[in-house]
Amino acid sequence: MTLIQLGSRGPFAMTYVVTEACIKCKFMDCVEVCPVDCFYEGENMLVIHPDECIDCGVCEPECPPEAIKADTESGLEKWLTLNADYAKKWPNITQHGTAPADAKEWEGVSDKFDKYFSDKPGDGV
Ligand code: SF4
Ligand code: SF4
Repeated sequence: MTLIQLGSRGPFAMTYVVTEACIKCKFMDCVEVCPVDCFYEGENMLVIHPDECIDCGVCEPECPPEAIKADTESGLEKWLTLNADYAKKWPNITQHGTAPADAKEWEGVSDKFDKYFSDKPGDGV
């Protein structure tokens, strides 16, 4: 059984996280469906603030490259840490911005984190 602690996120809390497939895709379809505005924008990807996500799951099917995953899936520890860290550093984004012109070309490309991850903040909206 999974325990959920809404409000104060403890060790058993659940969240959704943005993973490698978002890098350089950044379609932002996820942003406008989030009821609690918990996406934060880096230069070439978004992250979810794990303390703010209410685990509703509505963003997951909206993401074209399937970058959004529930942290109950195995092997996502690195991405949970990255989402938590950069949600504190990057600006909040609540509106759909303009996706990169070449976003489609980056769908399915491997090793995007090692080659292209940028720790710079995005503009936020
Ligand atoms: S919809 Fe997916 S690819 Fe687009 S910004 Fe959101 S997480 Fe990234
Ligand atoms: S699961 Fe819900 S609350 Fe969490 S980021 Fe997605 S839309 Fe927002």
